[in-house]
Amino acid sequence: MKRLLVILAHPDDESFPIGGTLARYAAEGVAVTLVCATKGEAGIPGLSAAATAVRREQELQAAAQVLGVSDLRFLGYRDGHVAEVDADTAVTQLVGLLREIQPQAVITFGPDGISGHPDHLAVHRLVTAAFDRAGIDSRLYYIAPSAATYQGCGVIPAAEEAGGPVAAIDVGPYLITKVRAVQCHASQNPPFPGDPEEEASRLVCHEYFTLARPRLADVTLTGLFDDQEIF
Ligand SMILES: [Zn+2]
Repeated sequence: MKRLLVILAHPDDESFPIGGTLARYAAEGVAVTLVCATKGEAGIPGLSAAATAVRREQELQAAAQVLGVSDLRFLGYRDGHVAEVDADTAVTQLVGLLREIQPQAVITFGPDGISGHPDHLAVHRLVTAAFDRAGIDSRLYYIAPSAATYQGCGVIPAAEEAGGPVAAIDVGPYLITKVRAVQCHASQNPPFPGDPEEEASRLVCHEYFTLARPRLADVTLTGLFDDQEIF
């Protein structure tokens, strides 16, 4: 059985940049585990952290259900303060997760953290360190710094720009699902508020990832697993 492990920082990090990929693999029978480092409790101005955490956990549960994520977990770190966690403890926790789940593919933030958010950068560092220590037979992908992340249809980022071979995941049939998942995060004023079918028609058809481990050269990837590559 194929298993995909996705480790991100906040509720909603999953749906907008890579919701199509999660929906596609879940629909294809892959067991998708989503790990969220925080509950995004700093994310609703004017609402207490405790109330925000409850609301955003519910939103993420709803989005996970829409996407077909079968296993949703939280690391319990503080929103906005992930960089301050004890790195050894966090890496040990993540190594345990990697060894338990034994995913053939892992997705996390790249060194740009998409937006440069300090929590995203911390998750990038911690997950990469844990992956290197876990010693499992798997692939590590970063969400690629690409125009596609910001809606540039069909623009495959160059390997030099992306920092390694790029996996281009065709998510065309899953864009409506992606929009529905994005809309679950109502507290974050999601960018596609309209009719899901109509909104999906304006979204790009591919999501892009950079293969960080193992370091393969001259390879074009059409999927995240090792049977989906062209040398
Ligand atoms: Zn985030």
